[in-house]
Amino acid sequence: MSRAAPLPLRLPQARTCGPHLGGGEGAGLACIVCGGPRASGRREACGARCRAALSRARKAEAQRTRDAEILAVVDGIARLCGLLKQRIESA
Ligand SMILES: [Zn+2]
Repeated sequence: MSRAAPLPLRLPQARTCGPHLGGGEGAGLACIVCGGPRASGRREACGARCRAALSRARKAEAQRTRDAEILAVVDGIARLCGLLKQRIESA
């Protein structure tokens, strides 16, 4: 059973955004959206635009996960129907 792998949260349209810091001490603290430096007080994104992009990406990913789960259920039902059909036909 293959579960949908989480996509990397890198959105190409959000490259130039946010009040990026001058770098230096913030090493290791990168905005997970645009990859730019972020202040340590901020949790994941460097600014409002990246937070919005992150939120959109997470919603889209949640939607994809739901879609994949629904497809798996439908697939299971289809397989069950096939088995039942076989039984009925061989009876
Ligand atoms: Zn950013």
